[in-house]
Amino acid sequence: MLTRAQYYKKVGEDVVCLLCPHKCRIGKGHRGICGARENIGGELYSLSDGYVTALAYDSIKKKPLSFFGEGEILSMGSFGCNFHCDFCQNYRLLDSDVDKKKIDDSEILELAKPSMGLAYTYNEPTVNFEMVKRLAGKIKDQGQLNVMVTNGYIDASPREELLGLIDAWSIDYKMPAELYPSVCGGREEVVLETIARAWERTHVEVTILLIPGRNTQEEVLRGMLEKLSAIDRNIPLHLSRYFPCYKSNIPTTALETMYRSYELALDYMDRVVLGNMPMRF
Ligand code: SF4
Repeated sequence: MLTRAQYYKKVGEDVVCLLCPHKCRIGKGHRGICGARENIGGELYSLSDGYVTALAYDSIKKKPLSFFGEGEILSMGSFGCNFHCDFCQNYRLLDSDVDKKKIDDSEILELAKPSMGLAYTYNEPTVNFEMVKRLAGKIKDQGQLNVMVTNGYIDASPREELLGLIDAWSIDYKMPAELYPSVCGGREEVVLETIARAWERTHVEVTILLIPGRNTQEEVLRGMLEKLSAIDRNIPLHLSRYFPCYKSNIPTTALETMYRSYELALDYMDRVVLGNMPMRF
């Protein structure tokens, strides 16, 4: 379904999307960086609304949210992302050409009922803002929980709206500041701001995917941990093991690096969990 975007302004026949800090200026018939928003006839539309590419019951621990109760949550993804990480684990969901199913809100809401609620995940859900906002309101009306798994790259006004609806945020903190633009196509300070604003209001857990040579060097990781602990050292932190994926052929993170990073992280954060490990640590 074509849904008029909520956040944009018109500049002649172009539109400027105001949903995320990219502020894409989009000419008629073209899409923004995320691939999920298009200028149609001089107005901006969400192309992903009403489409799911993945729908599954997942353990809440897999989001990963280790400190937000127990149970399964219906997890849905659509398509589009405002980052371009070369190690993306869900790169098939970047494009609107992906296999997708048209679905009514009522079907999703019914499927969510036996679980904790609804998790917006798999692709980057902030670029599906209108659908997420609408469904999150209905999930709340059902007395259930909303969970957001995100890169945190969203502008302040739409973020505020989601903060009023989302009960738990799982936010990726991917890179040191100097690598965010080239590797992800974003800015570290926006992600840290989202973590801070969300943590003021609700439950947050942060994940750092440890990628050799990018964020595993002691000084680099210490720098990231300092910034995170400056928000609050009580934020749960997941250190996740990287495996080669998509366009990245950087070798898998060594187990020794995982254990060393865990010890180092405990200097800064009170709750640290290792993820993607061969056995429970
Ligand atoms: S949400 Fe998409 S279209 Fe809008 S500014 Fe971000 S990348 Fe561009």
